[in-house]
Amino acid sequence: MTPTRRDLVAASGAVLAAATLGMPAVLGQAKARVVVVGGGPGGATAAKYIARDGGGRIAVTLVEEHEVYQSCFHSNLYIGGFKSYEQLLHRYDALTAAYGITLARQRAARIERDRKNVVLADGTRLPYDRLVLSPGIDLKYDSVPGWSQDAEEIMPHGWKPGRQTLLIREKLDAVPDGGTIVMIAPPNPYRCPPGPYERASMFAHVLKSTGRTKARVVILDPKDSFSKQGVFMPDWEKRYGTMIEWLGPRVHDGIKSVDPAKGTVVTGFETYENCAFVNVIPAQMAGAVAREAGLAPAGGYCAIDPATMKSTVDPAVFVLGDACIAGDMPKSAFSANNQAKVAAMVACSELAGEPAFPARYFNTCWSLVAPDDAIKVGGRYEPRDGRIAATETFISQPGESDEVRRQTQAENLAWYEAISADIFT
Ligand SMILES: Cc1cc2nc3c(=O)[nH]c(=O)nc-3n(C[C@H](O)[C@H](O)[C@H](O)COP(=O)(O)OP(=O)(O)OC[C@H]3O[C@@H](n4cnc5c(N)ncnc54)[C@H](O)[C@@H]3O)c2cc1C
Repeated sequence: MTPTRRDLVAASGAVLAAATLGMPAVLGQAKARVVVVGGGPGGATAAKYIARDGGGRIAVTLVEEHEVYQSCFHSNLYIGGFKSYEQLLHRYDALTAAYGITLARQRAARIERDRKNVVLADGTRLPYDRLVLSPGIDLKYDSVPGWSQDAEEIMPHGWKPGRQTLLIREKLDAVPDGGTIVMIAPPNPYRCPPGPYERASMFAHVLKSTGRTKARVVILDPKDSFSKQGVFMPDWEKRYGTMIEWLGPRVHDGIKSVDPAKGTVVTGFETYENCAFVNVIPAQMAGAVAREAGLAPAGGYCAIDPATMKSTVDPAVFVLGDACIAGDMPKSAFSANNQAKVAAMVACSELAGEPAFPARYFNTCWSLVAPDDAIKVGGRYEPRDGRIAATETFISQPGESDEVRRQTQAENLAWYEAISADIFT
């Protein structure tokens, strides 16, 4: 996007603000210090762009507890047999080497906001001038009666990467012909709004393509409607007949309880017994490190200033990705990566006097329904009335040609390669 005259005037205002507000905080230091917690699409992107665009005046430390990032995005394609698990793995070596980022391979135990320190699990304190938090989500293990963290091996969620994703595929492979998979979908707001429905499509695809055509997938949803519903549902019928059944709360009358030992799910309307497997995707909240820093209400997400991605509680802290309240933007890797670039621009402006422009955001979420049949939803967004508001949206239409759907899947695959390179190299 070419900046307009108005953008440049706004940018010069931001630089002036940086010169008067941000710079004194770091006078006397060799370099300003930015600590980033979380090496996913939000955090790793922010670390890269701050280190790259800070004119050599900002020292960036990335705190990440895992050696290898395992992406949830495209994990449904692994479950559907369209990708290997190895294709979801990303290391940090190239990123840290290319931009001189220090990697602290540890858990951030807590944030001392009053002293501007991140305290690592081993007790080390990392002082910061600006902190970027992108810790992703935590699951609410008490949101489905009868389910708990102890039950996640038996009734997996697959909403965090690693063992959980692999478990979903193992359980799917073990479903007998005629068996019933029950998926309990999460309430809003949650990570990846179309994700449960893409996953149900992948379940049906695997069952159908392995001859288990009498198996079925029942989605019990606490919501009255879901992302891309008007496109998913006719596609399910076309591709899978009656294999996928979606039931909203007016039909199932409430998800009353699950019994992991018996494989049972009780709703107000029906009891599902001897389920082949139950995929419980529970309610979600911001990752612990952000909540415990007092940046979110109990069990909630972090409010941000839509023009800067800074916490409304603490202007020295940016909160990105799934952990923040991003208005009309969904919780997606695309959104987190995009929000990170706004935060990086603001941080570089405040700490290094680099130019800043008005915040603009973009997102697209693709979902694979069947081989070579993908659909998408997305939009452009900008700050309006204190929130990130959609200014333009688009969505796939039911009945699109096979060629359009093939192209949409080609975009989806190309997007994964492009965003992975943008985040991790
Ligand atoms: C099944 C599924 C399918 C999806 N498909 C898509 C898709 O097609 N497109 C899309 O755009 N999005 C998709 N998503 C959503 C996407 O995965 C998330 O929105 C995205 O990962 C959010 O990025 P993030 O940086 O906020 O958090 P995360 O990716 O969760 O990264 C957080 C990182 O922080 C680290 N961390 C957390 N706490 C600490 C701590 N205290 N100390 C150190 N490190 C810490 C974690 O180890 C992790 O590496 C999907 C999600 C799921 C579950």
